[in-house]
Order: sequence, then structure tokens, then C-alpha cells
Amino acid sequence: MTRKSLTTAHGGGCACGHVRYLMHDAPMFVHCCHCTRCQRETGGPFAHHAMIEFTAFSVLEGEPEFVLVPTDSGGKHWVARCPHCRTALWNEHGSRRAITRYVRVGTLDAPSQFPPLAHIYVRSKQPWLTLEDGAPQFAGYYDAAKAWPQESLARYASAKTARVHERAKSGAARRKESTKSTG
Ligand SMILES: [Zn+2]
Ligand SMILES: [Zn+2]
Repeated sequence: MTRKSLTTAHGGGCACGHVRYLMHDAPMFVHCCHCTRCQRETGGPFAHHAMIEFTAFSVLEGEPEFVLVPTDSGGKHWVARCPHCRTALWNEHGSRRAITRYVRVGTLDAPSQFPPLAHIYVRSKQPWLTLEDGAPQFAGYYDAAKAWPQESLARYASAKTARVHERAKSGAARRKESTKSTG
């Protein structure tokens, strides 16, 4: 596959065009989250997220800025936004070293190719919204080990391994650096 066809298939960006990104593969999973937090953050009835591992995601143009948003559980949650038009492009949960990018499907060039494979937190779904797409619905969160396809679980596992290796490598580099500066 050429880069051009990938861009067409899985590329996306902000409203002003400054930030462009690319998913190198189809997402591992796609869900709509109907939690009240996602409703507030998006200003809409739900968040529509395509989950892609960091090893299969690149920023092609522009440098997004990361805004820290509080979560209900007291954790961290980063939102990548265009520094100019402020479009929210994706979320990174827990830390900036998170394994998964939660890409906002509406920012893809062809968002209709990724319908949700599950609806989560439907207990706080807007009452006027009727879900008839046949995707499984979960009252709260879901168990990815059961809901995700095996292939996606394997992709997640290898991205996790890549992250662990990367951490070990940067830890070793830091140790070397501090040895240098103190010795
Ligand atoms: Zn922009
Ligand atoms: Zn949510």
C-alpha cells in the first residue's frame, strides 16, 4: 500500500488542516461511549472513538498540543488538539505514553468506514437516541478481552511489549546520562 492510499483510507486531521495524522491500519476496535463525561467533552450525545495502537499511528503534519482533562476516576486524560483551530483529534488515557490512541472518528477523512462495534455506558445514553445498529450494548464499561476480536487483542499485546522495550531502553539511556553527569 502506498502512503497516498493509506492517507485516503485512514487519514484525518483538524478543521483548519494544520494537523494531519494517519492510522497505518484499521483500528483495533471502535466504540461509542455514552458516559456523561464524554457527552460534556464532545458537547454531543456520545464520543465515537477508533482505538489504534501508538505503533500504528503517526502525526504527518503539524504539532498538536496536549490538554490535560480531569476524569471522573481522578486519573489523567490528554486530549490532542490543533494549536490553531483547537479541534480535538484524539485522546490518550493515563499518560502521554499510553499504548492506545482514542481517535475521534469524526476527524477522519472517511468517518463512515468505522461504525461502532459496541456502545458503552448506555445507562447514561440520551433518552431520545435509539440504537438500532445491532452493535452490542453495555450498561457501563466492557471487558475488552471478551469484546475485542482476537486479532486486535494480539495487536494490543504487541504494542504493549513495544512500549515496555522502549521504556527499558530510555531508562537505560537516562541511567547512562546521570552516570555521566555525576561522574
Ligand atoms: Zn487546525
Ligand atoms: Zn465516555
